[in-house]
Amino acid sequence: MKKINRGVSMKKHDQDFMRQQNKITVYELIKNDSPISRASIAKKTGMSPTTVSRIVGELTNQGYVAEFEQISSGLGRKATMLGLKGNSVLSVGVEIDKHRISLGVVDVNGAVMVSKVHHRIPEESVEMTLSTIVRMLQETVESEGLDSSRIAGIGVGLPGIVDNENGQVVFSVQLGWRNVDIAQRLKALTGYEVAVDNELKVKALAEHVRGAAAGSKRTALLGFGTGVGSALIIEGEIYRGESNSAGEIGHTTIDPNGAMCECGKAGCLQTYIITSALLLEANKIRKVDTLEELFEARRSKEMWAVQLIERALTYIAITVNNVLCVYNPDIVILSGELIENFPEIRQEIEDLCFNRFVWEPLRDSFSLQYTALGEDGVMIGSALLAQTRFFSLE
Ligand SMILES: [Zn+2]
Repeated sequence: MKKINRGVSMKKHDQDFMRQQNKITVYELIKNDSPISRASIAKKTGMSPTTVSRIVGELTNQGYVAEFEQISSGLGRKATMLGLKGNSVLSVGVEIDKHRISLGVVDVNGAVMVSKVHHRIPEESVEMTLSTIVRMLQETVESEGLDSSRIAGIGVGLPGIVDNENGQVVFSVQLGWRNVDIAQRLKALTGYEVAVDNELKVKALAEHVRGAAAGSKRTALLGFGTGVGSALIIEGEIYRGESNSAGEIGHTTIDPNGAMCECGKAGCLQTYIITSALLLEANKIRKVDTLEELFEARRSKEMWAVQLIERALTYIAITVNNVLCVYNPDIVILSGELIENFPEIRQEIEDLCFNRFVWEPLRDSFSLQYTALGEDGVMIGSALLAQTRFFSLE
């Protein structure tokens, strides 16, 4: 008897699952190919026109989809087209940085509806950071009069090694965090599902969805700042590797006899590029506290500063070539403090890439870009990650 019951419920479960999958398929098609007609949806999915009409009816009633008239270019006839209502699904994106917490509410197109920034004390505890996030979220929802039932979840992007499946920060040098259960703790405080990921990975996702790499099939994003890293988006998906550490290019070995890296190995790529390494070298000559001071010395043609930065730019071009040779992406996006705060180096990097370091067969295979979303990239990408993880059409 028990067995029969179980069989019946499994069958019902399978049917529900199929219906849910069909609904998500139609939703995704409207999201990606809008404006689109019911007939095109039927054609592209192989579903019957009746099924498509039923699903579109449900999505319209739930407030996800809207109809509008479009005059077809050929015969001037009106056609009824479908598109998403921009604010039908929302999510919250949070960027936690050493000095800053940014929080924003983002719609299905990755557009930021409202955002806030809070100055963070580098030494503050995990509790303090989480309670700041909760307060920022409450203030935002209240001041904007947002319908909190439309919020699919929260995404958090931060620097460091992140176990994205379990929502844990394994280790973050910048934040000084080790084995922190961010997802679970933030969920307990807010009631929302929480996704956590490495900042470069979500930044790449954001640039892929609505930034410099929109329409790209294989996007590589490189970050040069307090660390050196890369992230890869293949066919819209973040490439993670076995433990979400794919792209940690800063710790590839360039010279086994080179300078010590903070990771404990000698001669890692990042020892030629990162802020702390550049300042360490600069201070062998004279007292230099910031990158800005180092660049000032370079602008006044102090030879040691010219050479130090030229060496860093050479290694940036080498990084671009190495990523191209390994992944063969169609777009390479350069990002990070060094690139964003000192745009004067961009032309020099391009010259080094295209005249010297990029392997010749690959020179015409990609375009070199800079981030289009700037400081909002991590926040937007984290929010988009939460939408894909937690959006349910129930
Ligand atoms: Zn290293």
